[in-house]
Amino acid sequence: MKASPEAQRRLLDLQAIDTALAQLAHRRRTLPELAELDAAARELSALEDERVRAQVTVDDLDRDISRYEKDIDQVRTRKVRDQQRLDTGGGGVKELEALQHELATLNRRQSELEDAELELMEQREQAQAALDAVVAKLADLNERRTATETRRDEAFAEITREQEFKQGARKPLAADLPADLVTLYDKIRLDTGLGAALLRSGRCGGCRIELYGADLARVKAAPADDVVRCEECRRIMVRTSESGL
Ligand SMILES: [Zn+2]
Repeated sequence: MKASPEAQRRLLDLQAIDTALAQLAHRRRTLPELAELDAAARELSALEDERVRAQVTVDDLDRDISRYEKDIDQVRTRKVRDQQRLDTGGGGVKELEALQHELATLNRRQSELEDAELELMEQREQAQAALDAVVAKLADLNERRTATETRRDEAFAEITREQEFKQGARKPLAADLPADLVTLYDKIRLDTGLGAALLRSGRCGGCRIELYGADLARVKAAPADDVVRCEECRRIMVRTSESGL
């Protein structure tokens, strides 16, 4: 392929822009905020599980406590009824004794139930504290995640601005170069990440291998408008005064 030395040199400018664009794309893919957000999502999911478990514990205790409340209410109702019977008198001695006995039993029962309920209420207080702690952690993490998302979006916007700027510079540069040269360059660049490199001091700028012997002689003998490619990496080697030929 033939191309003027000037066109070949401008291929290096195009490559510089494409390298910058590749770095921007790499930066977009590897933003530290992306890893932070992944970690935050995992942490949030684990905390959400923890919150559900803590809520279930509180709900179970509430259910048990209300069951005790109901039992205690029943005992109270019976005590009131027995007391009324006692107060109105009537009935025989045996019946009064039985009522008194039952009242004593009901008092013990009420006391037992209230003790048990109190214990559950203490457990509930602890369970609620645990739930509150998880909810606070979740709120904190959500806040951090939102801040990270903001930082990520700002970084994305900045990368996009730079990409648009570079693409804006690339367009006229590529349009000015011979189409067949750009096609070849783009093909090599898409395959290897680098389409053209400066031959500097006898060394290919693509693969860093030094030319010698017949290879060096071939490049030295090639007319200036020949598009020369590296035997090793197949990239376009652009020759300038720095090439050491
Ligand atoms: Zn090479």
